[in-house]
Amino acid sequence: MKFLIIGSGLGGLSLALRLSAKGHNVTILEKHTKPGGRLNQLKMEGFTFDVGPSFMSMTYELDELFGAIGMKNPVEMEELEPLYKVYFEGKKEPFHIWKDLDKLEEEFKDYEPDLKRKVEKYLKRAGEFFHDTEDKVVKANFDGLLKYAWQLSKVPKKHLPYLFRTMWSEVEKNFGSEEIRVIFSLVAFFLGSTPFETPAIYSLLNYTEMRHNGYWKVKGGMYRLVEEIMKILENKGVKVVYNTEVVKVEERNGKAKSLIDQHGKSWEADVFISNGDAAAFRGEILNRPKFREEKLDKMEWTLAPFTIYLGVKGRIENLEHHNYFLGSNFRGYADTIFTSSINPQKPYYYVNVSSKSYPECAPPGSENIFILCPVPDLRFKPDWSDREELAENIIDDLSKRVDYDIKGNIIVKRIMDPVDWGKTFNLYKGSGLGLAHGIMQVGALRPKNKDEVLENLYYVGASTTPGTGLPMVIISSRLVMDRITEDYGLI
Ligand SMILES: Cc1cc2nc3c(=O)[nH]c(=O)nc-3n(C[C@H](O)[C@H](O)[C@H](O)COP(=O)(O)OP(=O)(O)OC[C@H]3O[C@@H](n4cnc5c(N)ncnc54)[C@H](O)[C@@H]3O)c2cc1C
Repeated sequence: MKFLIIGSGLGGLSLALRLSAKGHNVTILEKHTKPGGRLNQLKMEGFTFDVGPSFMSMTYELDELFGAIGMKNPVEMEELEPLYKVYFEGKKEPFHIWKDLDKLEEEFKDYEPDLKRKVEKYLKRAGEFFHDTEDKVVKANFDGLLKYAWQLSKVPKKHLPYLFRTMWSEVEKNFGSEEIRVIFSLVAFFLGSTPFETPAIYSLLNYTEMRHNGYWKVKGGMYRLVEEIMKILENKGVKVVYNTEVVKVEERNGKAKSLIDQHGKSWEADVFISNGDAAAFRGEILNRPKFREEKLDKMEWTLAPFTIYLGVKGRIENLEHHNYFLGSNFRGYADTIFTSSINPQKPYYYVNVSSKSYPECAPPGSENIFILCPVPDLRFKPDWSDREELAENIIDDLSKRVDYDIKGNIIVKRIMDPVDWGKTFNLYKGSGLGLAHGIMQVGALRPKNKDEVLENLYYVGASTTPGTGLPMVIISSRLVMDRITEDYGLI
């Protein structure tokens, strides 16, 4: 059978691995010049940057993916400990966030008494929720609301309050200090939202980071993952056609017949899978009324990324591989900034320096600095002509906080604002992680991985089930593979 996948993000590539391992003929059409989607790479004058993701969690999903095609995970990974470093405005010394709870308690001894016991209690609860829902809800395909409701009814009732509380009220309930509350609620930003909007169920991410599997860096940089997958796909004869954007789907008798690219070329296959955003694709390419722009705009979308890539001369002692720089008014910032049309004056941001662990990512005696600042998407702030101002503001702030003249030592610089992110990878209104994960947009309520109308069209990736993030899109590829296997009786 012939399969056409639209997009070479990790979701599309993982599905291509599963299909090609079964001997199917697979072609990928990709609008960008390189594979990987948001998990991409940028090279400038001897500096190598990961464009988006900077760490991996739930690494056993990678083992499952390679295991499913009869291989061992070829990617070398190293666990992070400490997980990251957090700088608060007005405090000279940063906090190290340790997985080891004795070390964590020692780090916060002047802020949060009895921290180890409190964290253990908090993680026990989050862990129970994680294990009670992982197989029943996260890793399941749903044919309809009834099956979804049935699966949910099997989740122990003690977890119900989690649904009606926010992440922030959960951390407020468990911890007394503002510092620990902020740090434990940072995971909401990994979901592209704020802890004041994210349901408490996502404290399960604290469990995955601190207890279950932790965070991992990929040896040589995150893009090694894509490079290893591409080697296997090439061996299997999978063809990836770049600079090719699908703009239309031709239909016949309730089936997709062919894809039309931006040059008018037609691409035929038996089965089609979109790795483009599962909601926006239905609206923009298939013209489905339920996904028209005004309907899409009313959905909840994750925050947009504003990213800066800097090659900097010198070694910056006060930076580590993963660092957060936070202000002093967390609630005020989170409540206002993401629906505002003006640049944040005191931005909160994350800094990744992979050359700290892998010197080959920067020329000798220099660092590759990646800065990620979550900002409003294009619904709220469509004009980014003032992007230099925000970049300058962040670079000045970072220079002061790490006590190093970054601006005066810049060798290369590149900015990607939400407009660039939107255009480069077809992200709806520049939303970085796709559809958000409120309880009305998960499980059977999220855009399905099988099309409602065209029986041979499927979806894989962040905006279909189960959700966003690298491990989730790998799970997504398994779920859609299960569907295809069942629908076509594949072995
Ligand atoms: C700044 C940033 C940091 C992140 N950090 C992390 C992290 O540290 N850890 C983590 O787990 N996750 C992280 N994520 C999330 C993670 O990157 C995504 O969830 C994941 O990569 C999504 O993969 P995907 O396969 O769904 O889609 P994508 O990566 O978006 O790939 C889709 C591909 O389809 C192509 N495409 C779309 N439409 C068309 C079309 N019509 N025709 C042809 N091609 C098309 C796009 O160009 C793209 O290459 C981060 C995301 C961002 C933006």
